[in-house]
Amino acid sequence: MTDPSPVGGSVPSWPLTDPEVRAAVDRMLHDGSWGRYHGPHGDALRTALADYHQVEHVHLCCSGTSALELCLKAVGVRPGDEVILAAYDYKAGFATVLALGAVPVLVDTLPAYPALDPERIAPAVTERTRAVIVSHLHGCLAPMDETVSAARAHGLAVVEDACQVPGARQNGRPAGTMGDVGALSFGGSKLLTAGRGGAVVTDSARCAQRIRLSVQRGNDAYPLSEMQAAVLLPQLQCLDERNSRRQAAVERLTRAVSSDAPLRMIRSRGPNDAPTWYKVAWLLDDGESRESWVAHLKAAGIAMDTGFPALHRIHARSRFRASGDLSESDRLHERLLTLHHPVLLADEEELLRVAQCISAGPT
Ligand SMILES: *Cc1c(COP(=O)(O)O)cnc(C)c1O
Repeated sequence: MTDPSPVGGSVPSWPLTDPEVRAAVDRMLHDGSWGRYHGPHGDALRTALADYHQVEHVHLCCSGTSALELCLKAVGVRPGDEVILAAYDYKAGFATVLALGAVPVLVDTLPAYPALDPERIAPAVTERTRAVIVSHLHGCLAPMDETVSAARAHGLAVVEDACQVPGARQNGRPAGTMGDVGALSFGGSKLLTAGRGGAVVTDSARCAQRIRLSVQRGNDAYPLSEMQAAVLLPQLQCLDERNSRRQAAVERLTRAVSSDAPLRMIRSRGPNDAPTWYKVAWLLDDGESRESWVAHLKAAGIAMDTGFPALHRIHARSRFRASGDLSESDRLHERLLTLHHPVLLADEEELLRVAQCISAGPT
């Protein structure tokens, strides 16, 4: 189950080949369910995700990106509408807003923190604004209470992108369930994976109905297959256990990385945040060369890379509207590093090696 990393201890390869996943594949080969349009696995996964998230409705689909599209359609985003999102975010939300003929309105993040600043919502609102997309990135949960109340004050819907944080909780509520609709991803690198896949979770019957109508074209236009559902079920069952192991590794790294190192881990801010870890974010001090850091860590066989490019830095001005200054997003664009999650399931020796390489830095 583990592959040797290029240097030092061992990091599990991703995805893990769990005996339970293997058994599920074996069973579906024997009972023929792998080749059906509809069957027991999709139904069981829907029920399990609804129970896990304590929501009424789960819609399975073919990717996290399609889940975001269905979320936007569910809350009634139409061509010409405006959708507010953070300038530092994954490009799926931005591109999906454009794909629907709507206009992305970029606002800044909180200071040195990769989540939309709720105070930036009000100044960005026009009579065309319909929704806000808020993403939980790199183990940093967005402040949902503030975000939802700022959106509600202007009659806006909230689409919660929980693709990176399955199983995370804020004030006891599962990520994905705090807005009107939430998107999950089962992409190949994600914490729950079927190579591809996604889901929308919601308590709104109206949103669920809009999603059903938008995908039904004789058959489901954005389906998740029985095969994918079958391998996801056993992973959902051990998600909490794996998330706590990743959490323990993050605590270990926090303690082991020298406080003199010219970077710091960005940790979720809310007093009642229980994040989960797809990536771990680090902010480099000014003056450090991010290229040298990435080269140093790559040479040591550590899966640490630059974060996302900020959306206003890679897209033409004609494709979006910017509201207010975006200097915090610029800083994340320039100074963020992210550590990929498989290392968080590595042994103690490997974690300490990673901490030492980070503490040493490129010299
Ligand atoms: C991965 C990801 C998505 C898209 O998921 P896919 O399944 O790859 O389409 C959307 N948002 C965020 C924040 C992601 O990390």
